[in-house]
Amino acid sequence: TFRALVARKTEGGQAVALETITEADLPAADVTVDVEFSSFNYKDGLALKGQSRILRTFPMVPGIDFAGTVRTSDNPAFAPGDKVVLTGWGVGESWSGGFAERARVKGEWLVKLPEGLTTHQAMAIGTAGLTAMLCVDALERYGITPGGDVLVTGAAGGVGSVAVRLLSRLGYKVSALTGRRSEEDFLKSIGACEIVDRDTYAAAGKPLASERWHGAVDTVGGQILANVLASTAYGGAVAACGLAAATDLPTTVFPFILRNVALLGVDSVNCPTARRARAWARLSDVLEPNDLDQVTRDVGLDDLPRLADDIIAGRVRGRTVVRTR
Ligand code: NAP
Repeated sequence: TFRALVARKTEGGQAVALETITEADLPAADVTVDVEFSSFNYKDGLALKGQSRILRTFPMVPGIDFAGTVRTSDNPAFAPGDKVVLTGWGVGESWSGGFAERARVKGEWLVKLPEGLTTHQAMAIGTAGLTAMLCVDALERYGITPGGDVLVTGAAGGVGSVAVRLLSRLGYKVSALTGRRSEEDFLKSIGACEIVDRDTYAAAGKPLASERWHGAVDTVGGQILANVLASTAYGGAVAACGLAAATDLPTTVFPFILRNVALLGVDSVNCPTARRARAWARLSDVLEPNDLDQVTRDVGLDDLPRLADDIIAGRVRGRTVVRTR
């Protein structure tokens, strides 16, 4: 038997509690993993609160990512003792996830940890950090290069703080858009040169504003994303990965047709395995050992129900690693 956080359907919605379950409760697949760490992402907050229909079937163990050691494997690519990381693929949504001491998944979903990255560091990065890396990759594929001004929105959150740290390590001049002035020192300590007050981007603005950003990573959507597009310089690009503010996009075509601005969509859930593996290797290369400690705190499985309210309200700083055992 092992411990897991389990969401069960109730008459009024769903209830989440720590339970003792067995491997028979896990879905059938070819690799079983002893989960050492999971992490807490915005989507996990929605799942635990029963919002946005993240959890599709019940009972369900939430937790959209985990890192650990292979326990048993019928997949020739993995052997007991291998250190692995999993993000996405619907795990923790429609397939039993990482908020447990054990998980069973398809080997094709797993990535072997790059040399030099511990399972704790892998979850300090987690889905949010992988997504930040994929956003930077998308900007670079479009031709954005270090040296120019880039903006990160939702900067003090999980994706945002890893994006700030990464872009600054890569030599970009990073501005951090935040609604929390209290996080100014934190954001500067992880590499932000300048703080942009969320309020200055929150109201409906002109279709085109003065050209300020060569690139941007947007985690919030809505009016803020529209204003970021309007202030992106000629030939610049914005990588959009999130909806922490809103799911709509009240923009015009002007940034695209008059300034050659590109809006680049970024998804981490179904991202092809080869691109993921490259992103993990690059995260391991670019981040310095202390970088992750600066943006991370550790919690236990019992802390998660309370943290769900905090992350949805935008009150969580940086990344949250979940100890599963
Ligand atoms: P998070 O830690 O909660 O960060 C979100 C940040 O957005 C908050 O810390 C806050 O930053 C800002 N924010 C919150 N509410 C806001 C509002 N009403 N208006 C404007 N800004 C607001 O969440 P996360 O785990 O980093 O995820 C960030 C977003 O990316 C989420 O929408 C998530 O679903 C999405 N995501 C997408 C993918 C993908 O594959 N596409 C993967 C991972 C995450 P400040 O306090 O600094 O303003």
